[in-house]
Amino acid sequence: MSLSQVKHIILVLSGKGGVGKSSVTTQLALSLSQAGYSVGVLDVDLTGPSIPRMFAVEDAKVKQGSGGWLPVVVHEANPSTGIGSLRVMSLGFLLPRRGDAVIWRGPKKTAMVRQFMSDVLWDELDFLLVDTPPGTSDEHISLAETLLQEARPGQLSGAIVVTTPQAVATADVRKELNFCKKTGIRVLGVVENMSGFVCPNCSECTNIFSSGGGEIMANDFNVRFLGRVPIDPQFLVLIETGKRPRYPEGTKVNSQDLSFQHLEQ
Ligand code: ADP
Repeated sequence: MSLSQVKHIILVLSGKGGVGKSSVTTQLALSLSQAGYSVGVLDVDLTGPSIPRMFAVEDAKVKQGSGGWLPVVVHEANPSTGIGSLRVMSLGFLLPRRGDAVIWRGPKKTAMVRQFMSDVLWDELDFLLVDTPPGTSDEHISLAETLLQEARPGQLSGAIVVTTPQAVATADVRKELNFCKKTGIRVLGVVENMSGFVCPNCSECTNIFSSGGGEIMANDFNVRFLGRVPIDPQFLVLIETGKRPRYPEGTKVNSQDLSFQHLEQ
């Protein structure tokens, strides 16, 4: 099957939509490829596939090869700069019109997720990041089952759970962590996104919402806290103007231990 050439699979999960799951997936993919790894991103967020927009490849067309879909190339590996290849596959590429909603019943969604897991022709990949739909819905359960059944022992490295600092978001994310526990998926850690706002003039970071919810939750569940990422208004501007978004100045994603760090904090 198409996952046979993939070394590590990492799921990116969140308890609810809009907390920055796709943004974290994008930054992690870009950082891993900058570090020289070959990376694939599989967008199975059927509720709102935003990966094509995040990688500025919204108009790309997916080609059908013999035996499956060929993922869209964001960039090839470049041995002279040490950058690894980056490929993406998303349901968004298959929708007839940009922004079309996917209004499917559970079984059709489940079948699509299965097809996505088995029919994308990835080359050799160091990492496959899977951007999942928010919540603990049919798609999640089907995805978890497919992965647990089809992945080689040790191939599914685990899940990164994304949250915002507010209590409501973290309550949903607690459900997500319980879901991982039940399905036996190892949690690699928690990222707290939109954690404070960095003033573009003085660079001071202000906690608009409550802060620290992600870290408390990580401690409660005895999993690693991977770090905080502040809100950056520029981030949205870059996406809206068709450029690849970059996290706030000073935010570093460490590809060795997958941690996120903002230098102001
Ligand atoms: P999800 O995948 O959880 O639904 P997205 O990654 O699509 O969330 O993010 C939701 C919106 O918030 C997007 O418009 C994205 O550009 C914006 N966003 C996410 N993280 C940040 C951030 N740190 N700073 C500014 N905007 C952000």
